[in-house]
Amino acid sequence: MSARIQAPRGTSDVLEEAALARTHLEGVARDILERAGYHRIETPTFEATELFARGVGESTDVVQKEMYTFAEADGTSYALRPEGTAPICRAYLEHGMHKLPQPVKLWYLSSFFRRERPQKGRYRQFWQVGAEAIGSDDPAVDAEAILLLAELYEAMGCRGVRLRLGSLGSPETRRAYRVQLQAFLRAHADALAPEVVARIDLNPLRAFDADHPGTRRVMQDAPRLLDALADDDREHFAAVRALLDAAGLAYEIDPTLVRGLDYYTRTVFEFTSDALGAQSGIGGGGRYDGLIEQIGGPATPGIGWASGIERILMTATAAPAAAPPVDLFVAYATPSRRASAFRLAADVRRAGHAARVELGGRSLKGQLRQADRAGARFVAILGDEGTSLKDMETGEQRTVEAATVMHHITHGWL
Ligand code: AMP
Repeated sequence: MSARIQAPRGTSDVLEEAALARTHLEGVARDILERAGYHRIETPTFEATELFARGVGESTDVVQKEMYTFAEADGTSYALRPEGTAPICRAYLEHGMHKLPQPVKLWYLSSFFRRERPQKGRYRQFWQVGAEAIGSDDPAVDAEAILLLAELYEAMGCRGVRLRLGSLGSPETRRAYRVQLQAFLRAHADALAPEVVARIDLNPLRAFDADHPGTRRVMQDAPRLLDALADDDREHFAAVRALLDAAGLAYEIDPTLVRGLDYYTRTVFEFTSDALGAQSGIGGGGRYDGLIEQIGGPATPGIGWASGIERILMTATAAPAAAPPVDLFVAYATPSRRASAFRLAADVRRAGHAARVELGGRSLKGQLRQADRAGARFVAILGDEGTSLKDMETGEQRTVEAATVMHHITHGWL
């Protein structure tokens, strides 16, 4: 026997209950988002690598280390999408969506790819549900987007969910603050972790994320971006908070909230769940008013979020969705009735009911066992002497005309 081939590391098959749970989550997300005016979008699984290099940021881990890239014959480099925002911004530009009423609100549920070290809650192919609202910088768009994600967690019964909220200000404020923070880090370089020092030029904000005790001590006195916000950014942030307060959503202000992707401006937020282990982030997002310009469009504001499907389901308490009930199982007592049974099951399905028929060549006894196992509500048995129909709930069995089976299972006994 040749060696068995297994699924790649960090990927998994989605089976049975897990698949049902996903279907359920997708329905819940669709209801919540489409009620708020979001439309579904699907973008390709791979995009020009350049899109992510420019849109997500050259200095990010995602772009530096985690993308699965490949080259086409003409030398163009493509990448399996590591995230959804840059592709959707590309689609917004490509389809001239600026001509639509703004903001354009789009949602997706798709798989993403990052070459990360696999562990619980962290995979190389994972799924995200996400939402993007492009074309308005109104704080109400931020607040609405955040509320919708909170609503999704509530509807899924996610446990121990907390919201952290921050603001990164405008690109100008961020640049000025970055210089200030870099000077501070250089002045304290002796006490910092070597990897933090190595990133002072490229990504000084990540110093707030470090676990290294010396770094953490230094960072307690570091200048805070929230204190450096320009007046309009401060007002924007206050307006977002006021709307969340009005909607009764609890949050904590986190002045050190840094997200892994470079494109965020102004509002940033992250939901965590106590029910998750080390990977406690369940979802998050923020405003990306500079992103569309980065990828070659006109200055266009936007905000969005993404949340991992696997992590939502790890924390969800909502009852696992059940497989749809089987209305009718069609069994046949002799092989000569096999085609009629096959035909009856197909007709019943076309009429909108769930119907199964024997596909494995089992004996009648074996078929009835299958019907039982499937939890069929009715079982029809086609034999040479006629058709009998059994109501599995009451145990009542009658001889019927084959043509009336559909009527019986819809309306009960005639
Ligand atoms: P990000 O796009 O990095 O902001 O991630 C948003 C959300 O996607 C996270 O809060 C997680 O729920 C999920 N996520 C990100 N990376 C992974 C991964 N490698 N495996 C599983 N879920 C992930």
